[in-house]
Amino acid sequence: MIIDCHGHYTTAPKALQDYRDAQIAALKDPAQPPYDGKIDISDDLIRESLEGAQLKLQRERGTDVTIFSPRASAMAHHIGDATTSLNWSRHCNDLIHRVCTLYPDNFVGVCQLPQSPGVPPSNSIDELERCVNELGFIGCNLNPDPSGGHWTAPPLIDKYWYPIYEKMVELDVPAMVHVSSSCNPVFHATGAHYINADTTAFMQLIQGDLFKDFPTLRFIIPHGGGAVPFHWGRYRGLAQDMKRPILEDHLLKNVFFDTCVYHLPGIELLLKVIPMDNILFGSEMVGAVRGIDPRTGQYYDDTKRYVDALPLTDADRYKLFEGNARRVYPRIAKKLDR
Ligand SMILES: [Zn+2]
Repeated sequence: MIIDCHGHYTTAPKALQDYRDAQIAALKDPAQPPYDGKIDISDDLIRESLEGAQLKLQRERGTDVTIFSPRASAMAHHIGDATTSLNWSRHCNDLIHRVCTLYPDNFVGVCQLPQSPGVPPSNSIDELERCVNELGFIGCNLNPDPSGGHWTAPPLIDKYWYPIYEKMVELDVPAMVHVSSSCNPVFHATGAHYINADTTAFMQLIQGDLFKDFPTLRFIIPHGGGAVPFHWGRYRGLAQDMKRPILEDHLLKNVFFDTCVYHLPGIELLLKVIPMDNILFGSEMVGAVRGIDPRTGQYYDDTKRYVDALPLTDADRYKLFEGNARRVYPRIAKKLDR
């Protein structure tokens, strides 16, 4: 079984974006009530949107199931207010649920949270509960920067975030720490803002004692952990200077990395530096980087190819492709073992 822990519905039918465009247009006129129109998408359109994309790539690359969430860059929590974000999140999550219902063997759902700048994360609890309890989702994407590149929220170790963590622990679901688009022109979304956020989130976690308060809380830092594995010595040293516990003891029972690093030397480094128990296979297909590397003739985001090129033991392959995902997302068991 090969579980890809990181996939987004980047190919959703156009009606979803039409809804979003109408919602954003309505924001321009404060006299209008918040827009919440219907989205009319047939099952056939959903099938069509996946058959030539995510499903085709699953078949070609030999992966089995993708932990699937709404398009991350489109969460855009900085747009509008909490109501804007709630209406948008519910539609995006409902669509993921329809995908998972149509293709229960191929996709398991993870939700977008209706975060909004300046709005406490406790405001996202109802939608998290709905997605887990009613839609059968197994995790959430938590945006550490709902402002979209201006970093106005407190760090992840701040008690500000505790209500959503309490709910995550109660529901036994992890969060992938995942920012959205950048409205700050200095940060390219997927090239800078994403990787900055991964690195920033990890450093925030070093600075606090979050996992003393929440020993079972689990985070996945995507995109290979940003700059963290490459600079592991810096982070170990900083933790030591700050009188934190040894980095491995301090964070690695609770923090995990995916393999969304789009070249072989990067994957080699990740697997050399980060313990095998803390790495989940992921590709983030389709969308973050779409092209083919002319040097190899292969898709950059075909991360399974890099892992397959390494001499892993069967036990390590199991952890990376399946076992760790089952540990981090325990609710996936019910889906896989149907
Ligand atoms: Zn992503």
